[in-house]
Amino acid sequence: MKKLPLIFFILLIAFGCKPTSDKNYNTDIEQGTSTNQQEKINNFAIIIHGGAGTILKKNMSDEKEAEYAAKLEEAIKVGYTILKNGGTSQEAVMKTIQIMEESPLFNAGKGAVFTNEGSNELDASFMDGKTLNAGAVAGVTNVKSPIELAIKVMTDSDHVMLSGKGASIFAEEKGLEIVDPSYFFTERRFQSLQRIKDREKMELDHDDKTAAFYDADIKNAKFGTVGCVALDKNGNIAAGTSTGGMTNKRWGRIGDAPIIGSGTYANNKTCGVSSTGWGEYFIRNQVAYDISAQMEYKKIALKEATKDVIQNKLTALGGTGGVVALDKNGNMSFEFNTAGMYRASMNDKGELLVKIYKE
Ligand code: ASP
Repeated sequence: MKKLPLIFFILLIAFGCKPTSDKNYNTDIEQGTSTNQQEKINNFAIIIHGGAGTILKKNMSDEKEAEYAAKLEEAIKVGYTILKNGGTSQEAVMKTIQIMEESPLFNAGKGAVFTNEGSNELDASFMDGKTLNAGAVAGVTNVKSPIELAIKVMTDSDHVMLSGKGASIFAEEKGLEIVDPSYFFTERRFQSLQRIKDREKMELDHDDKTAAFYDADIKNAKFGTVGCVALDKNGNIAAGTSTGGMTNKRWGRIGDAPIIGSGTYANNKTCGVSSTGWGEYFIRNQVAYDISAQMEYKKIALKEATKDVIQNKLTALGGTGGVVALDKNGNMSFEFNTAGMYRASMNDKGELLVKIYKE
């Protein structure tokens, strides 16, 4: 009988004190890490998304899946290399997002979705976690890289957000690359607009049966924003987001992506966040800022904060989408309430994670 406490003690040592280094990198990001927030787990790190939505394996060909994965990997490795070589998180975020803006796969830059009038109106924002400085643009139609313009607004103007014509004039004055609006055209996104318009017409005609066939397809076509959060070797966090918004948007609709606190937020004291999803809900929930505020005021871990904001608060209002986030110690989190989110991360050991679906 006397031996019982001793056996119990040995068992406790054997199973209770598992070293954290045993933990799997992938599992940490997907399910959250219990790592103490005060402990630096990455000297630098980078996390990206290429949009969240009804992304299901059954609707995706192997070729398309490989194309998305390859582009996510190409983009994140650009940012990773900058950080590894001692570059700033600002540069890493910009260059990484530019790769995705230039790819027709994503709803940002080339490949942006169409407005109701058949044009492409681009939104983007950027925030620097060290200075809490920020820049944003909305409704831009002829600037090749909206994320670069958002950063220029931050660095070269007295303002935080510029829109439409004025934003284009500013871009020209600052020597940014101007393109013909047709540069953003892709047949795939144009057809998505036609399908949504057909669907709207069916609603007017009360043709419910045929309309139902269109719905899954339309849900898929709506999203695809890109975003990036990076932590550099100097401990500076930067976050950026770039998008074409939502297909069939009208009346100069602006979503969450260019709104600091909704689509993008960064603060060296807490974390950086980039959002994607149904923008109106992200604006109403101040999703990106709320994650940072919960960490600051409630002293909770990054994963706990992203989980609460997406799975509880956003979901309760009926919003759909997700975030990628990274804290000052290099903890990272993907959190979404949709079927999938194009996403990738890399830590300072060069470990890469690329994922599309929930599991
Ligand atoms: N959040 C974007 C918007 O509402 C769309 C998206 O992320 O897919 O404009």
